[in-house]
Amino acid sequence: MTAIDWQARRADFPVLSRRVHGKPLVYLDSANTSQKPAAVIEAVDDFYRRHNANVSRAVHTLGGEATESYEGARKRLAAFLNVRPDDLVLTSGTTQAINLVAYSFALPRLRPGETILLTRMEHHANIVPWQLIAERCGATIKVAEITPAGELDLDALWKAMTPEVKILGVTHVSNVLGTVNPIAEICREARRRGIATVVDGSQAVPHRPVDIAALGCDFYAFTGHKMLGPTGTGGLWARREHWLAMPPFLGGGEMIKEVRFEKTTFNDPPHKFEAGTPNIAGVVGLGAAVDYLSALGMAAIEAREQSLLAYATERLSMVPGLRIIGQAQQKAALISFLVEGAHAHDLATLLDLEGIAVRSGHHCAHPLMQFYGVPATCRASLAFYNTTTEIDALVTTIDKVRKMLG
Ligand code: PLP
Repeated sequence: MTAIDWQARRADFPVLSRRVHGKPLVYLDSANTSQKPAAVIEAVDDFYRRHNANVSRAVHTLGGEATESYEGARKRLAAFLNVRPDDLVLTSGTTQAINLVAYSFALPRLRPGETILLTRMEHHANIVPWQLIAERCGATIKVAEITPAGELDLDALWKAMTPEVKILGVTHVSNVLGTVNPIAEICREARRRGIATVVDGSQAVPHRPVDIAALGCDFYAFTGHKMLGPTGTGGLWARREHWLAMPPFLGGGEMIKEVRFEKTTFNDPPHKFEAGTPNIAGVVGLGAAVDYLSALGMAAIEAREQSLLAYATERLSMVPGLRIIGQAQQKAALISFLVEGAHAHDLATLLDLEGIAVRSGHHCAHPLMQFYGVPATCRASLAFYNTTTEIDALVTTIDKVRKMLG
């Protein structure tokens, strides 16, 4: 296998050649949304310029091409994740995917007093939908705690899996701590106890090989815009038996076999769960993103990002007064940090003046902020297209800001 020239790959991403405030853009916010390669931008452009039509409706040539492109993208995405295309429902992202599980799977099933177990490190997208349906069906929410290093306390998690727990919501990779959770082991333990597992794969799929079939979960949600794809794309995989048993979430066109005022019969999954006109061009772009990631290889991407993470961790650890939040053994390439004497937002604003984009805030993870007793952190999140030179720029600028504010 020939080594990948990662520096050269930067040229695939038009935005990376931008300047911000007169400085070269240093984009360290890929966990928020990734940048898009020209192949993805061109696929969306080509769809609208040459093939635009609605899917699954028209018999004309463009209609056929649009349907083929849309379903072709589903097939490539399914192969990428090692699942059957028919078990992969395309959604607008993780948020819609988890709401679909909550409303179609959990709400009709949960009885008063039954429990949904969530971990401390969930994104609000894997908390709030559960709270909304718990209120409606009388279920309760229980929290599985983490260690100060930011790892799941597995002994506590096993103990928390009591008989009234029916659903476990767990993130594959934390968007704040970077922690990679042992999902296969967690799903095995949950399954032994009859608990359905809902895995949030938003931060995993873009950064490491993900074989959903090997994880043993019941549901796996992911979002397209963090994996080089367009915004408003993503998906939900579920075991076939769940899809067959679940009522639709949204009703409308595309998801039916026959509509009569007396009774409507539904299409087969996945179409049963894809009411209305989908984000066709976006899904086509997501298909191009999958092709791009597959050509590089997810194992190579993971190795590249791990070496950037090691470099960034070492360099940031040497900055006086800088505290890294999230020190798990297994981490994805993102680093949350605080700098003594500097508010996260002020630091992010001053970094932006040097062209460096990091995220500051609560990262849609209030319960984690409460655990660490901080209102916000700064987060530098890496992708394979970042470089050690960019990390150096981050470290030097933080040091400058620290001295300026100190
Ligand atoms: N879950 C995690 C771990 C995330 O990082 C995000 C996005 O920040 C989401 C869920 C929500 O994804 P989306 O807004 O694309 O639905």
